[in-house]
Amino acid sequence: MNDEVKTEAPPTIAVVQVNARAAKRLRQGHPWVYRSDLYGSGSKEGATPAAELVHVADERGRLLGTALSSSTSQIALRLISTEALPDWPAALKTIAERILAAVAYREAMVTGSDAFRLVFSEADHLPGLILDRYNDIFTMQVLTQVMDRDDVRVLIPETLEKHFGPGLNLVERVEPRIRQLEDLPAAENRLLRGTKSTTRFHLNGVSFRFDALSGQKTGAFLDQRENYAAAAHYAHGAALDVFTYHGGFALHLARVCSQVTGIDSSRPALEMAEQNAADNRQQFSSGAIEWIEADAFEILKDYSHPRSGRRYDTIVLDPPAFAKNKKGLETALRGYKEINLRALKMLEPGGVLITSSCSHHVSESDFAGMLAAAAADAGRTVRILEKRFQA
Ligand code: SAH
Repeated sequence: MNDEVKTEAPPTIAVVQVNARAAKRLRQGHPWVYRSDLYGSGSKEGATPAAELVHVADERGRLLGTALSSSTSQIALRLISTEALPDWPAALKTIAERILAAVAYREAMVTGSDAFRLVFSEADHLPGLILDRYNDIFTMQVLTQVMDRDDVRVLIPETLEKHFGPGLNLVERVEPRIRQLEDLPAAENRLLRGTKSTTRFHLNGVSFRFDALSGQKTGAFLDQRENYAAAAHYAHGAALDVFTYHGGFALHLARVCSQVTGIDSSRPALEMAEQNAADNRQQFSSGAIEWIEADAFEILKDYSHPRSGRRYDTIVLDPPAFAKNKKGLETALRGYKEINLRALKMLEPGGVLITSSCSHHVSESDFAGMLAAAAADAGRTVRILEKRFQA
């Protein structure tokens, strides 16, 4: 025995009890506890400390693990360990180990790209932390009170530098709405370390410009990386990329298609797409990509009108999330159906539709049902070539 063993553990960490429903979920491996599931919630007992480490116990006081606590979020607790972490230093050590493990896993998995997500919050048992790498720039998003603590903010770059070496460029990307929900002070995108905030990165050999400080919501849709390559595998002829953003699909299609048009309602997004196109020009089998600033619903309505007579061999639909919550499901499905119906009408026989949804609330079967209905309305027979998910 060493002399550090104490007869009485110092009561530094609060214990929060949760009801049977939450206890069951935690035991099944789901990391969240909703505020309404705190034992004795409704009274003062339903409160949780801000940005703290707490021990979680069931109604009978049996330990379920250690969680990161928020004082305001409806997700009051997010489990970080099924063990009883004794104190903050132990939690910081766990966070650092998890970051390094996530980085090692991504480096082993990802090929053909110098841009990928290094840490994805709960998926890496690091609730509230997102780290991405875009070539020589790292970005960090902090989504919870704990990950916004000063000691965690010091730990993150230190841990990254342990692996990647000193002098890295780290930019914090801020989602104002999330900071509001967590009652964190307002902040802006900013360079935390290093000197560089713009770069070029590569997906499947296509080069993309990246401005980490730009106001646009996400720098790039890295989760579509493998889907770009898959789309290019099927694509041919005249192609239309709707909701093109920085041209992710369009630039991949331009290597194999005879003609490519990219559509987006955002002018800054299209300006970036155009620069990307110039950078990749040598690889294109088609001529210049045509970029059109327009509302997708309106332009698809025009283009698919029999009078317009537009036809494409390949159409990509990669819209933003139409369903932000469960209530929006029906409206979202109507939106998806509208664009898919119009796209199917414009597709040449033997043409390829690459269609996606990133709405968490739209299930795979909802989406398949929507697509079947759109095909029936368009009078087209569709064959599912491949179902793919985010990388
Ligand atoms: N396909 C892209 C990601 C699309 S993100 C990629 O692979 O990188 C969604 C894009 O849809 C954004 O660029 C946004 O500007 C655009 N957008 C949102 N609503 C739109 C609308 N009604 N019409 C056209 N574009 C829209």
